Amino acid sequence: NITMAAEMSDAHRRFLQVLMSHGIMEGAEARKLHRRCCEISKVYYAQDKLDDFVTTINNQLQPLFMQIRKGMSEVDGRTHYALVNMAETEITKMASDYAENELELFRKTMDLIILSDNGFASSTDILNCANQLKTKKMKKKEAEQVLKIFVDDKWLSERNGEYTLHTRCIMEMEQYILSAYQDVAKKCNICHSLAIQSQACKTCGIEMHLPCVGKYFKAQSKPRCPQCNDVWPYEIP
Ligand SMILES: [Zn+2]
Ligand SMILES: [Zn+2]
Repeated sequence: NITMAAEMSDAHRRFLQVLMSHGIMEGAEARKLHRRCCEISKVYYAQDKLDDFVTTINNQLQPLFMQIRKGMSEVDGRTHYALVNMAETEITKMASDYAENELELFRKTMDLIILSDNGFASSTDILNCANQLKTKKMKKKEAEQVLKIFVDDKWLSERNGEYTLHTRCIMEMEQYILSAYQDVAKKCNICHSLAIQSQACKTCGIEMHLPCVGKYFKAQSKPRCPQCNDVWPYEIP
């Protein structure tokens, strides 16, 4: 039984072009864009059909090893859509865009973030690494400039001088991170996606995203670990 994939219309092409130029979009923004693209191209529009619309695009993207993926922001739990490259599963995706020592700095930053308790690396720790790179050392000014580029390119996010992985980066590199950091990178106990910014049970070690913690423990006065039932010792976001 052969099912023909639905063909892309101008609306699909327009949607893809805009998403391509942004790299990642929040769900609300993507829904608005979906509507606008259908109106401009005068094709059928239904508010609740964005995921079908995206599936049609994904069927066409498959031979190019690209995919529009749906994921969640670790900060606010909101849905995002990102265009990701499936061809390469490692940091080699970034290889064509950055110099060798910039990539080394990114890897070191990723190590710091993933090995940390809360999913953040301080700029001080990152700048210390920059001074010890094997490929080519970076001065402080230069390293700060490179970090800014990683933020602009949506690989890193910065908050008060602390760096974490951008939602786009997590959506693109989830599989790579889970296999490269097998012993430390964990999936969220609630939504089963990779958890970088998270709370971890001190007894059994399970991790939960902050928005997932908030949703799960909503209205509970004495929250307990869903796995081992020990007291959950953190402030509930
Ligand atoms: Zn989660
Ligand atoms: Zn536990």
